[in-house]
Amino acid sequence: MAGATLLFAGCSGSALQQSGEPIDARVIVARDLPLPERSEPLGAVLWVDPREATRGVIIGAAGPAGLTLTSLDRPDSGTVGGLVADAVALVYGFKLDNDAEAVVVAHDRAAGALRAFTVTAGARGLRERTRVPLVIGAELTGLCLYRSPVTAKVYAFASTEPGVVQQWELTVRGGVVDGRRVRDLAMGSGIAGCVADDAAQSLYLADERIGIWRVAAEPEADPADRILLARTTPHGSLGEEVKVVAIRREADRTYLLALDDEEARVHVYQLPAGVHRGAFTLAAADDPQIESLWSGFAPPPFDAGLVVVPEPDASAPRYRLLSWSTVAAALRLPLAAPLDPRVVPASSMPLVEPTVETEPVLDYGDAADDAAIWIHPRDPAQSLIIGAQKKRGIEIYDLAGRRRYALAVGRTNNVDLRQGVRLGGRQRDIVAGSNRDARTLDLYEMNPETLQLESAVAAPIATGLRDPYGVCLYHSARSGKLYAFVNDVETGEYRQWEIEPAGERLGARLVRTFTVGSQAEGCVADDETGALYVAEEDVGLWRYAAEPDAGESRRSIDTVSPGRLRADVEGLALYRGAEGSGFLIVSNQGADNYAVYRREGDNAFVGFFAIVANDALGIDGAAETDGLDVSSAALGGAFPQGLLVVQDGRNITPPERQNFKLVPWERIAAALQLN
Ligand code: CA
Ligand code: CA
Ligand code: CA
Ligand code: CA
Ligand code: CA
Ligand code: CA
Repeated sequence: MAGATLLFAGCSGSALQQSGEPIDARVIVARDLPLPERSEPLGAVLWVDPREATRGVIIGAAGPAGLTLTSLDRPDSGTVGGLVADAVALVYGFKLDNDAEAVVVAHDRAAGALRAFTVTAGARGLRERTRVPLVIGAELTGLCLYRSPVTAKVYAFASTEPGVVQQWELTVRGGVVDGRRVRDLAMGSGIAGCVADDAAQSLYLADERIGIWRVAAEPEADPADRILLARTTPHGSLGEEVKVVAIRREADRTYLLALDDEEARVHVYQLPAGVHRGAFTLAAADDPQIESLWSGFAPPPFDAGLVVVPEPDASAPRYRLLSWSTVAAALRLPLAAPLDPRVVPASSMPLVEPTVETEPVLDYGDAADDAAIWIHPRDPAQSLIIGAQKKRGIEIYDLAGRRRYALAVGRTNNVDLRQGVRLGGRQRDIVAGSNRDARTLDLYEMNPETLQLESAVAAPIATGLRDPYGVCLYHSARSGKLYAFVNDVETGEYRQWEIEPAGERLGARLVRTFTVGSQAEGCVADDETGALYVAEEDVGLWRYAAEPDAGESRRSIDTVSPGRLRADVEGLALYRGAEGSGFLIVSNQGADNYAVYRREGDNAFVGFFAIVANDALGIDGAAETDGLDVSSAALGGAFPQGLLVVQDGRNITPPERQNFKLVPWERIAAALQLN
C-alpha cells in the first residue's frame, strides 16, 4: 500500500452506532513494513529522533534475531544481535549524565534480564547502556516503562509468571544504567502486557482471564489502590483473552488500546473512566497471530499518530501501520494530534530525601503513627524520637534510628510534648499520649538523666470519650499554664484539660469542650500566638484559639477540594523560627506529600514537598503519613538546623513493618527556598 494513502474501509457488522452501542469497525492498514526473514516481531516501539521530528525508527523485539531497527523514512532496517529480545519499551527524557536521552529497555530472554540502550547518531544502531543486566529471574509476560511526573524518576515494570509485577527504579551512574527493584505487586496469574500513563501516575495491566487493571504506579503508592477498568466476556466488553495494552495521549483525551488476541480485535477505552468507545479489526489481517501493539506519536505524514502492529507471520514478518486518523474515523472519535512524548514535563514538586529511617516498629500493619521530638538539654545529638505505636504503646528511638526501648502501655494513637514546663515547683519535660485501650489522657515525664519515659499521672485521667484519638499540648505564653487537647475519633469532639500538679505527680481538670464536625486527628498549638490548628480529615485545616475561654470560633486555613488538600488531612506540626516566624507542616495524606503554611499572619500557603527515596543510603521515601513532628533546634551534626520526623505508612525496598523517616530541616528549607 502506498505511503501516506490512508483508506477507511467502512464499518462492518454493527456499522452504525445505535443507542450508545460501541462501534465495531474494520480499519485498513496504511502501510506494511517488511522485516528481515527469521525475525520474530514480538514487540515494537516507535522512536522519534529527539532532535529531528521527521525521523522515526521502529525498534522491535525480534526474538533470537535480537533488536531490529526499521526506519519509517528510508528503505532500510538493521538488527542488533547478542540478545534474545522478547519485549521492548521506550522512555524519553531520561537523565543520563547531563543529557536527557530516549532510552530503550529490552528484555533479553537468554539472560532473563533487562538491558538498556540508546539510539546511536544517524539512528543506525543501538548502544548498550547497562553494564550489568537487571535480572528478573522469572518468566516475563510484559514490560513497560513509567516516568514519574512527581519525581522524574523512571521505573520499569516487568510482569512475570505467576503474577508478580516487579517494579524497578532505573538509576544512573557515570552514564551507565543500573536498577533497583523497589517493590513487587502481587496481581495473580494471568497478568500479561502492561502500559503506564505517566500523567495519571497509573499502570494498566492486561489480565488475560479477568480484564484490565489500573494500579497506582508510584512506588510509594498504596498497592491496594487498584480498580478493574474493563472486563472480559461474558460480563464485559473485552474478548476472551486480553494480553496487550497500549496507550494514546492527546491534550484533552487519553485512550487505552487493548488487543484481544483471539480475534485480533483492538478495543478502545477512554481514560480515566474506561468508557468503551469501540473496537476495530485489521481489514487485511488474514492470519492474526499478533503478540503486541504500540500506539502514539509519529513523524509526518502520520500527524495523527500511528498504531504499530507487529505481525509474526513465519514467511513474511512485518509491521502493519495504522494511521490513527482511520481509527478515529472508524470509531467516530474526535480527531486530535497525539502528545509529543519527547516533550517531558518538568517535575514541579520540591523533593527531599530522608537521611535516617528508624528501625521498623514492633508490630505489623498500620502500627506507627505520631512522633514527638525530645531535645536533650545538654547534648542535642542525644535527643530522642518518641513514637506513638497504635498497636502497642510507645517506641523510643535515637537520632540514628535505633530503638532504645518500647513501652507496652496500650494503644497510643498520638503523642505530643513540651519541655521545661514549670509545674509543682519544678521544670518538667512532659509527654502526652492518647490511649485508646484505657481511653485515657496519658502523661509522662522524660527523665534527662536516665532517658527513660516515666508515667507522671497521680491517677489515670479518663477522657470520657468513647475512642480518644488525637492529642496535642498547649503551653500558654500568656498564663504559663499547660493544657492538653484530646478528641474523639467519631464525633470530632475536642476536650481541653488544664494539667495541674497532684502531689509530686500530675492531674488534669476539664476546662473546655468543642466539636469540629467530623473525624479529626492531627492538632498542634502555637504557645506564642495562642493558635490551635486542627486537621479535620475529610474537610481541611482549621485555626481555633487555644485558650480555654476561646469558645467555638474558628477560621479555615485550607480545605480539601476545592482547596489545596487531599483527604485525609493528617498530622500537624509547627516549626518555630525566630521572632514569631516559622511554618506549619501538614501531612497531606491523600497526595502522599506535605503542605507548608506560614506560622505568622494569616497562615499563607508556602508550598508542598514530597519525601522521596534516598537511593545512596538505601532509604525509601515516605507515603501515607499519619503523624509527624518538626523541631527547629540544632540537633548536632546530622541535623544542624532542625529535624522533621514523619511516619511512613509503607516501608518498602525491602518491604518491612512501618517506621519513621528523618529529614534534616535544611533540605526542606532548600527545596522550598524558605530562607
Ligand atoms: Ca495510617
Ligand atoms: Ca503530635
Ligand atoms: Ca487519622
Ligand atoms: Ca485517616
Ligand atoms: Ca516508604
Ligand atoms: Ca525502608
